[in-house]
Amino acid sequence: MSLHRLTIHELREMLDGRQVSAVELTRDVLQRIEKVEDRVKAYITLDPEGALKRAEAADTELKMGTGGSLCGIPLSIKDVLCTDGMRTTCGSRILENFVPPYDATSIVKLKEAGAVLLGKVSMDEFAMGSTSENCAFGPPRNPWGTEYICGGSSGGSAASVAADECIASLGTDTGGSIRQPASHCGVVGLKPTYGRVSRYGLVAFASSLDQVGPLTKDVTDCALMMNAISGHDAKDSTSVAQKVPDYHKALTEGLQGMKVGIPREYFIKGLDPEVETAVRQGIKSLSEAGAEIVEVSLPHTDYCVAVYYIVAPAEASSNLARYDGIRYGLRDKSSDSLLDIYKNSRSSGFGDEVKRRIIIGTYALSSGYYDAYYKKASQVRTLITEDFKKVFAACDVLASPVTPTTAWKLAEKIDDPLSVYLSDILTISANLAGIPGISVPCGFSGAGLPIGLQIQASHFQEETLLRAAYNLEQRLNISHLRPENL
Ligand code: GLN
Repeated sequence: MSLHRLTIHELREMLDGRQVSAVELTRDVLQRIEKVEDRVKAYITLDPEGALKRAEAADTELKMGTGGSLCGIPLSIKDVLCTDGMRTTCGSRILENFVPPYDATSIVKLKEAGAVLLGKVSMDEFAMGSTSENCAFGPPRNPWGTEYICGGSSGGSAASVAADECIASLGTDTGGSIRQPASHCGVVGLKPTYGRVSRYGLVAFASSLDQVGPLTKDVTDCALMMNAISGHDAKDSTSVAQKVPDYHKALTEGLQGMKVGIPREYFIKGLDPEVETAVRQGIKSLSEAGAEIVEVSLPHTDYCVAVYYIVAPAEASSNLARYDGIRYGLRDKSSDSLLDIYKNSRSSGFGDEVKRRIIIGTYALSSGYYDAYYKKASQVRTLITEDFKKVFAACDVLASPVTPTTAWKLAEKIDDPLSVYLSDILTISANLAGIPGISVPCGFSGAGLPIGLQIQASHFQEETLLRAAYNLEQRLNISHLRPENL
């Protein structure tokens, strides 16, 4: 049997029942990586020896009956989360040789739960992008068609899950970076409420928007990963001290009495008809499962791309000031003055998209422009948040497309950053408002590319969101499908 094809919950039973060992499972996944990785290119750093050592330790725990909820489960990690002793590049030349001396809190929690870390996966440089093509080490490929992008910025996470090169993965989402690649690669991806998961040890892109979350093979696994990583952390002042429910337990309750809002503004001009058909079919399934469907309006949706592309670059320009060639990361050794060290290290260390964001952000924050751009954007951000407050008084969750189209061909939009920014229109507002959102596979295009359906809920309503997602998944029964030609 191909162990790498299985889910966390299937493997949990097998590992606990001693039908398979963590070492056997890890070996199987490593073999799978060996077989397909030259086509998928999901990993930036692979640590087979470390993974096998952790698997041995997991087997000891399993024997003693002391294993945690993820004991022996091989995972991949987006290369933006600090891993003690394991290179963390953020997809950037400037951190090519950066080895953190500590683990991010989400990594600590995964390790405490017994997970086996396989390595670090590809991403757009500093999580800036929607295709993963902004990775300094080459783009990952979509397992459903290797000439296509796998989305971004957590492209390596989505690709590694879809290609069975891990059992599940951890990504981050600042404007859609978990949900959009999950949609393009036919896997489940959840961006939790801002404050639900600690950001300590997550290399910052835009601190008021960033959130860590899981990419998994199905909704049940997503709930299990959420159980492991959620919770307050004294090391992250933006994490919230709110009780973590058992997300797994809530899944199987039905949808009777649940109101699903369909935001009118999310069925936009330019929405691919194949995407619309699949999403409408998904909404019909939610209704067949007992949910009541209501049309709602989020009137400020049109402004979210403009607001995000001020707020995110502004925060990025400030966060990325720390890469000065002095404290850590790449240093230009040819420079003989301090200013030249700064200039040359940053010029050669950052890629084009990161430079573009730093320039936009610095401009938006500069004196004389702050009021016109950053302040105005922050005000409109409040209006977008208010939109959600109003609709969540009238419904429990929102259902919509995740992204206007299916994955496009690699390099197709590389010279057109604006059109790529625009493709974020359906995911960005959740980050601006801080609410949770999930992408669940709901169909395929004629070309065989996956399509996701987005479900959003109010702050800390992940249980409701996961319950809707689980019921949808049961009805559609497609989440077990895998690319056949890989
Ligand atoms: N595509 C968006 C951007 O380029 C979102 C990225 C993300 O969520 N990290 O900024």
